[in-house]
Amino acid sequence: MTFESLGLAPALLRALSEQGYTSPTPIQVQAIPLVLAGHDLLGGAQTGTGKTAAFGLPLLNRLSKQTAPNASRKPRALILVPTRELAVQVNDSLRGYAKHLRMNFCAIFGGAGMGPQVETLRRGVDVLVATPGRLIDHMERGTVKLDEIEVLVLDEADRMLDMGFLPAIKRILGRVPAQRQTLLFSATFESQLKQLALQFMRDPKQVQV
Ligand code: AMP
Repeated sequence: MTFESLGLAPALLRALSEQGYTSPTPIQVQAIPLVLAGHDLLGGAQTGTGKTAAFGLPLLNRLSKQTAPNASRKPRALILVPTRELAVQVNDSLRGYAKHLRMNFCAIFGGAGMGPQVETLRRGVDVLVATPGRLIDHMERGTVKLDEIEVLVLDEADRMLDMGFLPAIKRILGRVPAQRQTLLFSATFESQLKQLALQFMRDPKQVQV
């Protein structure tokens, strides 16, 4: 299996080959075509399986296809992650995959000043990576608007629930457009998580590695 055969845009293929990725991992083989086709997705995968690229590549592919410029520069993709470390890591990975696309990225997380995050958001962002608590802070201050989100990713969803982020996640889900693609990745699927998926996802496809 090759990345070419999965149907990704040339700009993404170029970045992957420059990073030395030769072939997709199993979760990427399963997930990328489903996400490119526009399905919601439940992904059962641990860290280290290549799950970031499994959602990141088709997400970037989708955003790159829009012909009209994103005049408002409000975020079109939102990736929720449990920790600051993961926010930085996911943001760096996606930035690398998107190096030949013109897209702006921003990572927002707690334990860092609001000022620089507000400034980056103000300049315009296409892809926003955020921890739930800090995102709520920005929503309350009006420094971020989620009404143009097309793709929402919940990464390491089980860890976010373990950390008590369910109320924050529900508030965020209430502020993103109903018409969107939702991707949820988790190592485990407890009943609370299944309920959340049933409530907020549309006929999700399932992949498991
Ligand atoms: P993740 O599970 O998303 O945290 O990814 C684990 C590591 O594998 C990261 O360092 C990625 O850069 C790397 N990686 C992901 N997909 C591939 C691939 N298809 N080929 C080589 N390395 C990859």
